[in-house]
Formats: sequence, C-alpha cells, structure tokens
Amino acid sequence: MQKTALVLGAGGFIGGHLVKLLKSEGFWVRGVDLKLNEYAETEADDFLIGDLRAPDLVAAAIDRRFDEVYQLAADMGGAGYIFTGFHDADIMHNSATVNLNVVEACRKRTIKRVFYSSSACIYPAFNQEDPDNPNCAEDSAYPAQPDSEYGWEKLFSERLFLAYNRNHGMECRVARFHNIFGPEGAWTGGREKAPAAICRKVALARSGDSIDIWGDGKQTRSFLYVDECLEGTTRLLRSDFVGPVNIGSEEMVTIDQLVALVADIAGKAIRINHIAGPTGVRGRNSDNRLIRERLGWAPSAPLVAGLERTYGWIELQTRRNAA
Ligand code: NAD
Repeated sequence: MQKTALVLGAGGFIGGHLVKLLKSEGFWVRGVDLKLNEYAETEADDFLIGDLRAPDLVAAAIDRRFDEVYQLAADMGGAGYIFTGFHDADIMHNSATVNLNVVEACRKRTIKRVFYSSSACIYPAFNQEDPDNPNCAEDSAYPAQPDSEYGWEKLFSERLFLAYNRNHGMECRVARFHNIFGPEGAWTGGREKAPAAICRKVALARSGDSIDIWGDGKQTRSFLYVDECLEGTTRLLRSDFVGPVNIGSEEMVTIDQLVALVADIAGKAIRINHIAGPTGVRGRNSDNRLIRERLGWAPSAPLVAGLERTYGWIELQTRRNAA
C-alpha cells in the first residue's frame, strides 16, 4: 500500500521542500496551508487551503490515519517580525491554537508519528550572551528564558506533543531547527531571515556599494541548508528517538562573515553599514552531539555550498522583479 503523509504548513518554505522530498520517496501527500507557496508549484497530491486555527478545517485535513504527519505551520518570520514585540500576541495565540488543534485531531485518528518543528529560539538568552561560546545543548533549555514570545510558544508546544506521547501513547518527535535557509523561501517583505535578506541586498548592490546590516555584525549564528534539515527531519520521525534534538549546523559565523561569504559568491566588493535594528541573542550555534549519538548522523555540508544555491535563486528573483 502507498504510504501517506500530511504536511501542515506546506505552503511555506520548509513545508514546500518537504512535500517534494516525500513525493520523491513515493508517498501520497496532502498539504495544508493558509496559502499556496509563492515560489514553486506544489507537488502535493491534494492541497487544502485553510486556517488550522479552525477545528473544522483541521478535522477535514486529518480525515484518515496518515503514516506520517509533519506539523510545520506557525506564525513565523525573521527578526523583523519576531523581535519587535508588535506581533507577540498573534504569534502566541495563532501557533498555540494550531498545535492544540493538530495534536488532538491526530490523537482522535490514532495517528502515531507526528513531527513537530520547534526552534533554537527556545534556548535561554543568558546562555547566548558570549558570541564565541553560546550553549545550545538540548539539556540547557531549562530553567527556561527564551528571548522572545515565539520561543516561549515553541517551548509550550514541545511539551504539549511530548505530553500526548506520555498520556495517549503517541510517538511524536520534536526537533529544534536552527536558522534554515535555501531557495524558495521569503526573501523580501519583512519576514525573510538574515541569509535571504543579505543575498537580496548584495544582489541589488553594485560592487563598491555599502549595505545596511542590523547590529554591529559581530553577533554569531549558524545556518543550515534546507536539504539537510529535511534529511534530519525524516530521519528523526522514522527513528526511535523522541527528542527534542537540535537540527542545525555547527559552522558558526558572524553576520559580517556571512556578508563576506555572499559578497564573494556574487563577485562584488561590498562595504557594510551597521545600523540599529532587532538582532536577537549575541551568539547561537547548533550543538550536534546528541543527534550524532542518537541518530548516528549530523549535518555536514559547508555553509558556502548552500549559500551559492540560495544566492543564485535570489539574484534571479531580483532580476525578475526588476523586469
Ligand atoms: P514559513 O513561514 O515559510 O512556513 C510556515 C507556514 O505555516 C506558512 O506557509 C504559513 O502560511 C503557514 N501557517 C501559519 N499559520 C497557519 C494557519 N493558522 N493555518 C494554516 N497554515 C498556517 O516558515 P518555515 O521557515 O517553513 O518554518 C516551518 C516551521 O519550522 C515553523 O514551525 C517554524 O517555526 C519552524 N522553524 C523554522 C526555522 C527556520 O529557520 N526557517 C527555524 C526554527 C524553527
């Protein structure tokens, strides 16, 4: 029998890529989202456009015992959306409602395997003040002190899925994604993340120009290309390990170094103009000891390889926009 998968948030960046992967693996796939993906036609066999905050829509979406469910839908954005404080109530209310609806509907259908995408944003701010030495080991999550309401909601929902495992015999899996990037994601409009925003700024600049960067550029992060994120995601869902576990890259760079890498790919001399803006914690890096130990696998591709593909795609978008 053909296996079935449900991708919630299939119109988004990671969900769009996940649908493609599951189709290439031979699954029958249903996608659900508020919208279709803006950048690529969906390959899902069935795509439901609707709001997962509405229990009726969730019941229609989860109308059978799917073999695999991926819950990626969230009210989400880059630093310009999450850290300004203007969207806190929406972020918490919308994402928590979706997660509460989804896990309960899966329980009613006796679905076992549900993947939930949490975030590195759950880690305590006090462990990420030194840009050279952040602590993001999974067991450092408590005592909790995320630096955003987005992080608090993720922490609540991690616990929600794990409670359903304990009390209802489900087999939910929880991963904490660290800055996933790649083509076919938000690259303009305010919800884009640092790699996409930097690729866009460099693509639009001429050699010798300067581009604006939020903060002093010394804040550190690691960035994981979407293909490896999905490999970790499917490996985790199909494994005996529950998580929460980091899915991220251990190749930490400063934001200024990220700009230099992109400028190099573009073949442009780019100067940086540091301006005030939301930046989040000072340092963050994935700690991959646990995933290596439990799954015998960890992301390993160099950052520059993913950046080359992402820059190529974003540069094409800027040219199309200008035409
Ligand atoms: P995304 O914003 O591109 O995708 C999320 C999708 O969820 C969007 O298409 C959105 O329309 C949909 N959605 C939101 N509310 C909905 C609702 N009420 N009903 C139906 N659909 C709804 O984000 P993404 O980068 O693809 O992220 C996927 C998941 O991974 C999210 O849960 C996010 O929090 C998590 N995550 C992502 C990153 C990253 O770097 N991209 C890092 C950590 C965690």
